[in-house]
Amino acid sequence: MEITEIIIAGDTPGVEWRLPVFRFKGTKPEAPRTYVQAALHANELPGTALSHFLLGKLRRADAEGAILGDITVVPQANPIGSAQSHFGELQGRFDLGSRTNFNRDFPLISLGERDGLVEDLDRYSATDRLKRQLLHMALGAELVLDLHCDDEGLQYAYINEAFWPEAADLAAALDMKAVFLSDGESSAFEEAVGHAWKNEDKSRKKTSLPGRLSVTVELRGTRDVYPATASKDADGVWQFLLARGVVFGARTDVPAFSGKAVPLDNIEMIRAPAAGAILFHRDIGESVHAGDLLATILAKPGTPEGAIEVRAPQDGLIVTRVSTRFARRRSDLMKIACEEPSRAVRKPGTLEA
Ligand SMILES: [Zn+2]
Repeated sequence: MEITEIIIAGDTPGVEWRLPVFRFKGTKPEAPRTYVQAALHANELPGTALSHFLLGKLRRADAEGAILGDITVVPQANPIGSAQSHFGELQGRFDLGSRTNFNRDFPLISLGERDGLVEDLDRYSATDRLKRQLLHMALGAELVLDLHCDDEGLQYAYINEAFWPEAADLAAALDMKAVFLSDGESSAFEEAVGHAWKNEDKSRKKTSLPGRLSVTVELRGTRDVYPATASKDADGVWQFLLARGVVFGARTDVPAFSGKAVPLDNIEMIRAPAAGAILFHRDIGESVHAGDLLATILAKPGTPEGAIEVRAPQDGLIVTRVSTRFARRRSDLMKIACEEPSRAVRKPGTLEA
């Protein structure tokens, strides 16, 4: 194992960011190469905890010669975001300088243009340098896991249709309760990786990418950072690496993925009709029927007409819920995975990862 640091010059004098990268060299050149990163949204730590336990396993495997394909792990992918503590709260999702989401605005290039990502880096801001370095590492692999989490959430993932159903092995290994099948039309990290692969051959865009995977994994909620879940999740990634021939060892029987796999069009984003305190009646993991009461918004507390009911538009599984108990008008309350497409309009690409 080799630990290196990518050094990114800050945008102001006296500042530089250091990004530790763990690399394991595989013994089998034809085995898939893997890239795992966590906490690109710097306040989403379940993946960092997973990486800690996974790196322990990989170090042991390395000592036994059981690593077949090259593996790169970046347990804390966003030192810039990690430092953004404002008024006592970590602001890890948006770059405060440019107001951009750390998981958007990745360059949409073809695989052949990979080397250009790290050329003339002086032309870019620290955040863009970071993004270019991360994407450059990912494009050196065939299996890419970008580890995130939701606010309050079940274990789920955004997986591009080009990787499905092959990627059901990852969903099974990580015991996911749902998979959101995305259409690859945003500039999120995972989708920028998919974009480069799909456009590898400029004359013919690929629609299916066998043997490859780029995925945004949502490891439950921001507060779900515990030794037991992190170690279980690291075991899950290990099982996935075994299944894909990246590492060698005894496989355990992983039950097949039995969660819901639904296109993004079938996700009902439940929004608050008015501002006010949120009283949730239903929790993540619950199946609901059309018309079920999900939440009451206390728009005008103390008046009977000021308690506004929010009901399920159709049957489905509650996958996520916000952790705040104050809603602004039209703010998100829940994501529900449903059998039928939602009638609400949605922007292309990953919902919120
Ligand atoms: Zn995220």
